[in-house]
Amino acid sequence: MSCFETPIDPVVQTGAQMQPRTPAPVPVEARNGARVKDAAAPAVGLYRPNDNVMTPDMRSPEYVQMSTAAAITLGIMPGQMHRTGCTRCLNLLLTYPEGCRANCAYCGLARHREADRDYADRNFIRVDWPAVPYDEVLAIMRRDSGSAGGGGRFHRMCSSMITHPRSDQDTRVVLERWVASVPEVPVSILSNPTTMTRDDVRDLKKMGADIFTVALDAATPEIFDRTRGRGVASPHAWDKYWDILHAAVETFGAEKFGAHIIVGMGESERDVLSLVQQLRDLGGHSHMFAFFPERGSLMDHLPPVPRPQWRRVQLARYLIDYRGLRFERMGFDDAGTLVDYGIPEDEVLRIVAAGVEFRTSGCPGKEAEDVSACDRPYGDSPPRDIASYPFAPDRRDLTRIRGQLGLGARRDQR
Ligand code: SF4
Repeated sequence: MSCFETPIDPVVQTGAQMQPRTPAPVPVEARNGARVKDAAAPAVGLYRPNDNVMTPDMRSPEYVQMSTAAAITLGIMPGQMHRTGCTRCLNLLLTYPEGCRANCAYCGLARHREADRDYADRNFIRVDWPAVPYDEVLAIMRRDSGSAGGGGRFHRMCSSMITHPRSDQDTRVVLERWVASVPEVPVSILSNPTTMTRDDVRDLKKMGADIFTVALDAATPEIFDRTRGRGVASPHAWDKYWDILHAAVETFGAEKFGAHIIVGMGESERDVLSLVQQLRDLGGHSHMFAFFPERGSLMDHLPPVPRPQWRRVQLARYLIDYRGLRFERMGFDDAGTLVDYGIPEDEVLRIVAAGVEFRTSGCPGKEAEDVSACDRPYGDSPPRDIASYPFAPDRRDLTRIRGQLGLGARRDQR
């Protein structure tokens, strides 16, 4: 059994310390996209966030938003990404002038932001999300299919719902049109359980969705309620999320569903890894994000997850999800910090040397089952201190990672 020295985290945050701030009230004249609707400017082609103050009246399913990385890869926006040429997942997001009606504390799209930013101008997982006519996206994908450039570089499309009354209906349209146009690129659904029924899950499967994911985000019911439920006047409920997750288990089956978990919102490492095992036992995978304080969110005053904590959880999650190791074999101290991976030290060092577990986790692409198509470049950290690597970490990256895991000195002695 391995028993590495656990590095001292810079600051270990407890649940009470990771308390979201209280949002300021939203003036009536800014609620429900009122500024945008009053301006009534027509939507004209590509919209780049902060192009102008008043967002054009853009709505799904005619329009979708996409990550900056996806827009660069697709070739509709110029730009370069640090140490990577493209993303392998086309992340699409439904868009409406009213925006998302939920108020999740860590999220840049949350409702409270309508006080000072129109929906299409809000940052989300650290980047801007330009809005594009969906026809244009499909045309590029059809044109590039089978080529090595632009749309041909995507291994997967992810259709992301938000909390909006039209979200379920418009997701069907986006999916149906995609499957008719580019059936060779599989689709994942990032669902919004709050607005969905079990029948919706079954319909999406019948219509051709490949993988279904649920963004639990919080690792425990208490943190869920504090960050995306009653604690921040948001409509989500832990039990409803699990009901839709169980519907996905029944409908999509093993290896075809997943759950998002954000690490570092006040939970213990034991809490996260016990949830990872629970999801694995159901047949699914955990897609992990390191907590990073999103600018403008209700948690933007809080510290990111300390790297040693994040690396331990990343490594242990990989062992459970792809190496068949069980949570029960791992060891934790009284605070729930991981102190024993449950396998011999040599084996841990061999797995760390390959470095797959430190790459972004998510739905698979064409590379390998344990390599995510969804690489979300710098979605959970700045490039100077990468949390999830959107590429295979190189020798220098791995040296740094070993230091964060407290393995550096031992390896040097070998
Ligand atoms: S439901 Fe999703 S998009 Fe809406 S505020 Fe919550 S995390 Fe953000």
